Amino acid sequence: SALPADTQALMERRARVLGPAYRLFYETPLHPVRGDGVWLHDGDGKRYLDAYNNVASVGHCHPHVVEAIARQASILNTHTRYLHEGVLDYAERLLATMPQELAHAMFTCTGSEANDLAMRIARAHTKAEGLIVTRFAYHGVTASIAEASPSLGKFVQLGASVRTVPAPDSYRIAPSDMGRAFAAGVREAIADLKAHGMRPAALLVDTSFSSDGIFTDPPGFLQDAVEAVREAGGVFIADEVQAGLGRTGDAMWGFQRHGVVPDIVTMGKPLGAGHPLAGIAIRPEVLAAFGRECRYFNTFGGNPVSMAAGMAVLDVVEREGLVANAQRVGAYLRGRLTQLVDRHALIGDVRGAGFFVGVEMVSDRPARTPATAETARIVNAMRERGVLFSATGEQANILKIRPPLVFDQTHADLLVETLDSVLAAL
Ligand code: PMP
Repeated sequence: SALPADTQALMERRARVLGPAYRLFYETPLHPVRGDGVWLHDGDGKRYLDAYNNVASVGHCHPHVVEAIARQASILNTHTRYLHEGVLDYAERLLATMPQELAHAMFTCTGSEANDLAMRIARAHTKAEGLIVTRFAYHGVTASIAEASPSLGKFVQLGASVRTVPAPDSYRIAPSDMGRAFAAGVREAIADLKAHGMRPAALLVDTSFSSDGIFTDPPGFLQDAVEAVREAGGVFIADEVQAGLGRTGDAMWGFQRHGVVPDIVTMGKPLGAGHPLAGIAIRPEVLAAFGRECRYFNTFGGNPVSMAAGMAVLDVVEREGLVANAQRVGAYLRGRLTQLVDRHALIGDVRGAGFFVGVEMVSDRPARTPATAETARIVNAMRERGVLFSATGEQANILKIRPPLVFDQTHADLLVETLDSVLAAL
């Protein structure tokens, strides 16, 4: 079907100015002009329920965050080479949400930089090179982190010191086997590094395994793998860019679901609710060697405006009880999605925690055959009917439902009812 002329014109202008590397979502790209709460609005006055954007963690354009950014921008914005309370207040408040072992915080602008910094620190601490990630992981865009992001595909070579392990696929591995199975992959990776004369510096995982397909269960399954990497002299880096800031509903951070205390935690996306704010939390003994050997300065990381944004986001998360909301409404949403299983053979599995929900689509339930083409059609049909989400996993057959934390029960109802009718019409 032909695209509207203004959409076509903007797409051509994008290609002309931005070049060929960018990608748009949807067969008919979305052109939002305004956002508020869980809604995105286009120029024709149509509104879309946003069940996808975790960056707008406390909702699009939350007035408390907007006001905090504007206020600090009108007073002072510099960098961390001058004294300023803002970075200290925010670091203390962020660290207070974590186990006390994680006693230092450092700031970046993106999740990629946070992972890149964590890698450098891990290598300085362990005097080792190896990095273990999952089979379809995404951790960011810098050269060294892209080399540890197999989901980027065939154009990015995995680094010589990078090893991948099978994802903890809870649809295909029994809960009682999960911890052992995931740790077995990590042990094999360690053995392979050793066979090539290397030791592991770190195991780096997204604690919600979002690009692998959203795997959050059973709680605690990460423990064996973390133990395995530590036995081999490596550290555990929890990438909380996706799972962090209350998304899983049971805690502020995804690693807490697993009862482990990471050596380094990396954070990004939701922290600034759209303002570029990211960073790490780390055990002091792990940072010591890097601190002796290197100095660290990130021009924009930790600036007063970013710190004000981060503070305001934490205010809203607390005041509006958003972690509990993610747990309550997330459970309700998964419950209602589970009711669709009997009505639609395409749904193979409904899973996740809090507001990180995966719905795996299969063309054959007993064989668990990925329904990739159908999933793309569902995502596009939902967008046509005003509900936004995406697909994830190596076969792109898992609906990725990851709304702002202010999503409520009426929003969940709208999503499920729209999905029900889209599946019926497929
Ligand atoms: N880690 C994970 C798990 C991510 O999902 C992403 C972004 N999709 C990143 C790191 C990189 O973050 P950024 O895009 O802010 O560099």
